[in-house]
Amino acid sequence: MKDAVGTRSPDALLRTSRDTAFRQRKWHTQIGDGSLGESGSNMQPAAMQTERHADIAATVVATMRQLGVLGLPRNYEIFYEALSGTNRELSLAVVSLSNRPTQDDLDRIGRRFFAQNHGPGIVEHARDVIARELEDIATLLRSERTHIEKYGRILDETSSGLATRSLLSQELLQKIAGAMSAATNSTIDHGRQVASTLSDKTAELESVKTKLEEYKRLADTDPLTHIWNRRAFDKEITRIYNSNKGILFNALILADIDRFKDINDRYGHPVGDKIIQIIADIFQSSVRGGMFVARTGGEEFALIVEGASEDATYEIAERIRMLIEQTPFSSSQTGANYGTVTVSMGICMASEADGPEDLYTKADRALYRSKVSGRNRVTRHSTMAGRAGKNWLLYKKD
Ligand code: GH3
Ligand code: MG
Ligand code: MG
Repeated sequence: MKDAVGTRSPDALLRTSRDTAFRQRKWHTQIGDGSLGESGSNMQPAAMQTERHADIAATVVATMRQLGVLGLPRNYEIFYEALSGTNRELSLAVVSLSNRPTQDDLDRIGRRFFAQNHGPGIVEHARDVIARELEDIATLLRSERTHIEKYGRILDETSSGLATRSLLSQELLQKIAGAMSAATNSTIDHGRQVASTLSDKTAELESVKTKLEEYKRLADTDPLTHIWNRRAFDKEITRIYNSNKGILFNALILADIDRFKDINDRYGHPVGDKIIQIIADIFQSSVRGGMFVARTGGEEFALIVEGASEDATYEIAERIRMLIEQTPFSSSQTGANYGTVTVSMGICMASEADGPEDLYTKADRALYRSKVSGRNRVTRHSTMAGRAGKNWLLYKKD
């Protein structure tokens, strides 16, 4: 799909939109497919929300006390999120806890839903397990060495006994053979024990490794949308500038949902959350595999495009913008109609910036331009008047 200069056409970069209608239908039915406390078309003004937060906080404290849960910040986070009903799966997990949940039960939920905050606990636990296992293995190997040294001594003594005595009675030979056989058997037994203990230790270390890998994945994943999060994005954008392939034909697209506060105020936070999930889905399913899509903030998304010209990048952004604009949102349960939403976008080519932060700032500036010039549009940084890019500084020096 690559042409001579290494760029790809937007058609190749975007997945075919042949199934757009199907996807729209699917998304169409997603809202209300399970957000607890979905408020349908009820108004939910800011004042009511503040009051609701205070109510939830009081219920959280009472519930935790009733269940005998420790007042740790990570426990408050679990109960707050569960009782505010923004994450149905989390609420169900908390509801299914026993009357006296252990800290382990809660940490399991924490790791599943808030990997970022519970991650350090996992890492600490892994470090303890690894240190303990290594100490056990070292003790085991020391005992194995002692045992083998003892076996070696027995063999030495026996062979020197055989060499110094020219005539050995049958009885003595039998004794020597018996001692050697006992020492050999004991060494074999010991070896078997060591092998079996080492295999147990390996299994335990494997399980720690799996947990750490899972933590690493969760720490980079946004829990609401399951696409990459800001942390993963920061690493990825840095990679562009460290890559041997260079920065040509790499671009950043930033997107922010328009007037999203109004959506929350009109339909409630759970509906807002669902809309964020569906928009993430549109981003993710609109680009070819391997392209990097992240939720970098509340209702903000970033797309890192590799191997595309500025025109191709612009077309990708435009097509996603139009796809979102054409997607109707409604509740599959109540039939309530939430209308459509739009996004504003900003584009900057990596070659126009000095590094990751500069690239982000410039794409954000372009996004801001889209906002102030009417929203629901894509702005390229390169077309902005008065932009202070790398080339401009070089030009000034000359
Ligand atoms: P603009 O067009 O200027 O972007 O207007 P806006 O209302 O979208 O303004 P802004 O981007 O400043 O505000 C974003 C709002 O998104 C604020 C916050 O209430 C809401 N928001 C942020 N994160 C979440 C989230 O995870 N879920 C929901 N439901 N709302 C969120
Ligand atoms: Mg925003
Ligand atoms: Mg916004």
